[in-house]
Amino acid sequence: MIEELRNETTATCDGENCERRLAEEPTLTFRTEGGERRAYECRCGAVTVTVARDSESTR
Ligand SMILES: [Zn+2]
Repeated sequence: MIEELRNETTATCDGENCERRLAEEPTLTFRTEGGERRAYECRCGAVTVTVARDSESTR
């Protein structure tokens, strides 16, 4: 249902006619119950959001 969420390992820009790979460092990160969301701002101006599940220990 939610097509916006991309697999982190295949994260590319979500903008039209733009397939740049996302930057290594996310522009913004925030946590939700579903995991950590990472927002990447592309040079084209589009913002792509990925979700990383809490499979890794953060402590
Ligand atoms: Zn882009």
